[in-house]
Amino acid sequence: MTFAALQRELDERAAQGLLRQRRTLDTPQTPHIVVDGKPYLAFSSNDYLGLANHPQLIAALQQGAAAWGVGAGAAHLVNGHFTPHHQLEQSLAAFVGKPAALLFSTGYMANLGVVQALVGKDDTVFADKLNHASLNDAMLLSRANVQRYRHGDMAQLDNLLAKKQSGRKLVITDAVFSMDGDIAPLPELLALCEKHDAWLLVDDAHSFGVLGKQGRGSLSHFGLKSPRIILMGTLGKAAGVSGAFVAAEQVVIDTLVNQARSYVYTTATPPALSVVLLASLQLIEQGDTSRTHLQRLVALLRKGLSDLPWQLMPSDTAIQPLLIGDNKQALTLSEGLRERGIWVGAIRPPTVPHGTARLRITLSAAHTEADVQRLIEALHALAC
Ligand SMILES: *Cc1c(COP(=O)(O)O)cnc(C)c1O
Repeated sequence: MTFAALQRELDERAAQGLLRQRRTLDTPQTPHIVVDGKPYLAFSSNDYLGLANHPQLIAALQQGAAAWGVGAGAAHLVNGHFTPHHQLEQSLAAFVGKPAALLFSTGYMANLGVVQALVGKDDTVFADKLNHASLNDAMLLSRANVQRYRHGDMAQLDNLLAKKQSGRKLVITDAVFSMDGDIAPLPELLALCEKHDAWLLVDDAHSFGVLGKQGRGSLSHFGLKSPRIILMGTLGKAAGVSGAFVAAEQVVIDTLVNQARSYVYTTATPPALSVVLLASLQLIEQGDTSRTHLQRLVALLRKGLSDLPWQLMPSDTAIQPLLIGDNKQALTLSEGLRERGIWVGAIRPPTVPHGTARLRITLSAAHTEADVQRLIEALHALAC
């Protein structure tokens, strides 16, 4: 038993400024959190609409538990598929404009399940280099051939797709890149998929609830409608709860029910969560005021940080990363903010490429303009 080797690896990480540690929140997820007994103004959650602690959703969870208990007790294919799950799937499909949808326990599992169910060793997956880790893991697990294209490089993707003559082709991409905040060129991606007869898997983790008409996500944002597109949306970010869904043609959903191992071999989420998510979906649909406020905060932040020695990365979304470069400098800045009572995470490799450590600032409709102003002032103070 050589635990000493594990310790050496951890020490090595620490020396490179790469050790990860958890902090414990003593309060619910809102912009004002208490961590280890100290209050902070936080800019690091993905709770973009401020729904994670919404009173109507808390009430819905209580009602859901009273009506359906706390556990599903079995996998969906055994006897763990409940009426609220079913209603939520139908509502989600209609909301994003697809014929059918399927719930998964997490976005990570949804991505693993879809890719593994749709492609295998005779097939090829084409992936943007900055895709989320779950998509990267999914393509490895699927055993398909993997072709990664430079971030947003449509010419390279076109070439790679043209070279593949046999097997299925699946292009996979984040819609909003999770660590960069930029939006994938989905119309161009779809055009290439049409040209080369490929499927397109779009990961809407950071767009569902935020982008598009009434928060319907990236497809609505671009006005895209195609049976080729398979949409994966997560329900633990803007939706404020937990879980994920895949929306697609009925035949794709039926295939997932039969083949997606991360769907088949796991206990269904508590039906009470689907009750909450149905309520959350209504709040998302009615949330134009929140989305407009969020856009205003994005503009305010970008204007306020335009003269710092570090650059905000090009992004119009709620994810506003400040590029620092060096791991330790990113950590030092994050700690400097913390001393000023502000919580922003330092994102380092391997989550982002080497030399691109950053402060990942995320905004939420629950922030006020004064909150954003406080962050702007603190970063200016640290820049001197
Ligand atoms: C968060 C995230 C996921 C995983 O979703 P979970 O529900 O948290 O497991 C998948 N893809 C992207 C792009 C994400 O940001």
